[in-house]
Amino acid sequence: MKYIFVTGGVISSLGKGLTAAALGALLECRGLKVRIQKFDPYLNVDPGTMSPYQHGEVYVLDDGAETDLDLGHYERFTSGVLSRLNSLSSGQIYETVIQKERRGDYLGKTVQVIPHVTNEIKERILKGGEGVDVLITEIGGTTGDIEGLPFLEALRQFQHDVGRENVAFLHCTLVPFIKAAAELKTKPSQQSVAKLREIGIQPDLLVCRTDRPIGEDNRQKLSLYCNVGLDSVFECRDVEHSIYELPLMLAEQRIDDVVVRRLGLQCQPINIGSWREIVRRLLQPKVQIRIGVVGKYIELQDAYKSVYESIVHGGIANEAGVTIVRIDAEDLETQGTAQLQGLDGILVPGGFGNRGIEGKILAAQFAREHKIPYYGLCLGMQITVIEFARHVLGLKQAHSTEFNQKTPDPVIHLMESQKSVSTKGGTMRLGSYDCRLTPGSRSQAAYGKDLIQERHRHRFEYNDQYRQRLEAAGLRVGGVNPQSGLVEIVEVKDHPFMVGVQYHPEFKSKPNHPHPLFAAFVKAAVEKSQQSC
Ligand code: GLN
Repeated sequence: MKYIFVTGGVISSLGKGLTAAALGALLECRGLKVRIQKFDPYLNVDPGTMSPYQHGEVYVLDDGAETDLDLGHYERFTSGVLSRLNSLSSGQIYETVIQKERRGDYLGKTVQVIPHVTNEIKERILKGGEGVDVLITEIGGTTGDIEGLPFLEALRQFQHDVGRENVAFLHCTLVPFIKAAAELKTKPSQQSVAKLREIGIQPDLLVCRTDRPIGEDNRQKLSLYCNVGLDSVFECRDVEHSIYELPLMLAEQRIDDVVVRRLGLQCQPINIGSWREIVRRLLQPKVQIRIGVVGKYIELQDAYKSVYESIVHGGIANEAGVTIVRIDAEDLETQGTAQLQGLDGILVPGGFGNRGIEGKILAAQFAREHKIPYYGLCLGMQITVIEFARHVLGLKQAHSTEFNQKTPDPVIHLMESQKSVSTKGGTMRLGSYDCRLTPGSRSQAAYGKDLIQERHRHRFEYNDQYRQRLEAAGLRVGGVNPQSGLVEIVEVKDHPFMVGVQYHPEFKSKPNHPHPLFAAFVKAAVEKSQQSC
């Protein structure tokens, strides 16, 4: 077993998660079995209870773990399926340590950060990597943060325990360009590496985020002052078009060779043909389309991360370039549907809470009436049902009981199993569930099979009491959970593509395996765009 630890210095948002993911991708291209995981120093047990304003998207795993969006990058860039063992926060560690203390597991000892918290971290490193050749662990936050110290101390000890030859440290840092001096500055990197060395960690690889070439002089400076080999200083420039260029950019600088040599890995020469093909398709699309995403966190870069990525994957599948038009649902309420004109497809993603709901319903109505391809994810599926019930069945006050508890027509209501739930955090219907697709449905045609598994994160569901009426009026059921009978997919009949799914398909799409329904949605949007030409 070999271990790579990824840390970050100077500032956050350096793309540490993407660097870890891209390195994982390259090691897979050398035939190695790789897993990537994330340790986060915050005290929340998981990000499930954090607002998108704080944390961006909550990424859900098969086993129902609610995790950091970086795990989304890891799953998109590598083939590994992650589990709750691959996502650790300080909150989880303290929860475990305190439970052990209460049970008397520490036999009367004083419970301390070192060794009890650090031991817990080291154990999770060992567990997270079972069954693979290389485990990459990214540490959230920035070097020097007080709350990150126990993690760094645990990494130092871990290297000491398993031997230097089995552990490599990769440090992501910033090399900023200072306009007044017209120079790139290496000092911040030197200082953040000095900070790591103070703790006893010497980075082996330095990945320098910069907006321009760092040049040979700076490379030598960084090598000398940060004490890393000249071949181990990597330039990570802002990618021009797509994050999927990153593996190619790092492969060009032979980062995989350095890692393979440093860790003494036995593996094959690199084969990055599939990444080249992804980038080729992205850079040379045959058609161009516009997809509107109607949400309430539109101004945030990260709130719908996996949704945006999956739309791009749908584009890759169809050799289509997709421009994503972000539309604030509340604007539709105040300004009407003008913003929806000219779109080739409309997507309503998941969400919670009342704000913007009527705007999303307007978007669904517009898509249905104007026959624009529409794709509703989780809340977006519930919106489809509400809109259809109101405007086709004529149940004017139809709603979800999440938004109106007194509606006479609760077409979406609280799941039976949710009625007794009073705590937040890990209490929704979470993780992977089966869905049996309806023979002859659009979804079955797209997936090309009968039984699928998809990830969930919601409390409310389709109300079966309305099923007969909705189906008779043309809102067909495309798939049902075979165990519980819950309706998971709805499809509007006589429409080019209007599909709502109760799950989150965006958590299972990859650039080299675009999700079948995203591919089908984008295909419908391409057809729509060609009709309007
Ligand atoms: N708020 C809805 C529910 O809880 C939808 C959740 C979601 O879109 N993830 O059922």
